[in-house]
Amino acid sequence: MTTFVSRNPATGEDIAAFPVMSAEQVGAAVRTARHAAGAWAALGPARRREHLLRWVARLARHETEFVELMHAENGKPAADALVELLLICEHVRWAARNAPKVLRTRRVRPGPLLANHIAWIEYRPYGVVGVIGPWNYPVFTPIGSIGYALAAGNTVVFKPSEQTPALADYVARMFAEANPDLPDGVFTVVTGLAETGAALCRSGVDKIAFTGSAATGRKVMSACAESLTPVLMECGGKDPVVVADDADLPLAAEAVAWGATANAGQTCAGVERVYVVEPVRDAFLAELGRVLRGVRPGSDPDASYGPMTLPSQVDVIRRHVADALDRGGRAVVGGLDSIGSGSVGDNYVSPVVLCDTPEDSVAVREETFGPTVTVRTVADVDEAVRLANVGDYGLGAAVFSRSHGTEIAGRLDAGMVSVNAVLSFAGVPGLPFGGSGESGFGRIHGADGLREFARTRSVALRRFTVPGADFATFRRPALRTAVMRRIIRLRHGRTAS
Ligand code: NAD
Repeated sequence: MTTFVSRNPATGEDIAAFPVMSAEQVGAAVRTARHAAGAWAALGPARRREHLLRWVARLARHETEFVELMHAENGKPAADALVELLLICEHVRWAARNAPKVLRTRRVRPGPLLANHIAWIEYRPYGVVGVIGPWNYPVFTPIGSIGYALAAGNTVVFKPSEQTPALADYVARMFAEANPDLPDGVFTVVTGLAETGAALCRSGVDKIAFTGSAATGRKVMSACAESLTPVLMECGGKDPVVVADDADLPLAAEAVAWGATANAGQTCAGVERVYVVEPVRDAFLAELGRVLRGVRPGSDPDASYGPMTLPSQVDVIRRHVADALDRGGRAVVGGLDSIGSGSVGDNYVSPVVLCDTPEDSVAVREETFGPTVTVRTVADVDEAVRLANVGDYGLGAAVFSRSHGTEIAGRLDAGMVSVNAVLSFAGVPGLPFGGSGESGFGRIHGADGLREFARTRSVALRRFTVPGADFATFRRPALRTAVMRRIIRLRHGRTAS
């Protein structure tokens, strides 16, 4: 069997070898998941909640192991791995506890035409959900699909990124160990490269939840199109931040510094662009520079963030920064020397702040996915909003303003907005997560995230017959036609609401 090796991005050391699974092996995993699906769905949301909470408890009790593996395989500092674990636990707990209420059968009014009926909506599991995940938040990101799909009564086959198979294997093992009484196949991991992901798309799963780049998302969609398999797309972002003249500048600078550079900037909803109004520009930049002076990459316990997980990303960052500088941008923190060189090593990048880079440069338009940020001076909030809303992505956004935050937030085209904070929407399990345009479609997290993994079924039940009032018959008495005409004119023929 062909294998691939997962490596520590900081040291290059091997972590473990994993099989490159073939389409047959993926098919076998999906069949096992299909077998388990009936039993898992039949448990109902309340019993599933117990199993999911047992999983959370096991992960929580093995916190040190998880954090060490996350640090080794993904490179993020232990403190960030701990945040990822906490978010995972909060989200699975929320999904498990809220599924019974969110997915319960709901009565709806039958309306005047079918007043002799009762009507309701049921939320049924799809069956088997395939999840394809990225490496940047290798467990938190896919858990937004895995945890919610399981809570909604589906079994899950998860194809993790080839950069982080050990973490996926670990969380699946924790699930099995926490739930020895469940059949095999409730939550399974299949490992491999792009072909294994493509095989999962063509395996007959009932839905694919994809998180990754828009380019791969297109391939996933076209594979799923062959069988009309529905898809959820969580893709990249180029998230803007608006800093108004009444912003708390130290707060804004601290948040932007963290949002742009944490996890080495490898965050789909990380801060990539800032629009700051001219009167506070200098003070904001001074604060940002002050905060970033204390931020440095490394793999030691005190490092702010780790290496670039993919060495090839260093070239992308270099291209973006070089282009920005060539086109008249100024580096006010760091510069080309900060990228892949210096004392830390080739796959580390120190923070870079690019000022007044042209809006059509790649550093402003494309996802950089590095610890860099562009800062543009604008005349006023209107210009900030207009520029923030330009671009192909529509994932997250943020605004800093003491008194107009909510109003400005309402004008930003993004699936999620934080006010006087960055990325806070990701930590509120009840808030749906997702975007539009190149950022994808569909939602994970929250009630919408649970319903994303449920088929909606509508039922109308006739309680009694009303002679002459039935529409679904070829008997068309004249009286009924007259009544219908009257209803149309009286009920719908007037403009008043
Ligand atoms: P990627 O697109 O390279 O890979 C994602 C996954 O797709 C991997 O598991 C990969 O093996 C698989 N894959 C590759 N080719 C495939 C194919 N032809 N068919 C099926 N699967 C295939 O993305 P990445 O580099 O792992 O992750 C980084 C990207 O993910 C960034 O763009 C980032 O913004 C995005 N992201 C988005 C979110 C979100 O929630 N919106 C969260 C995290 C990351």
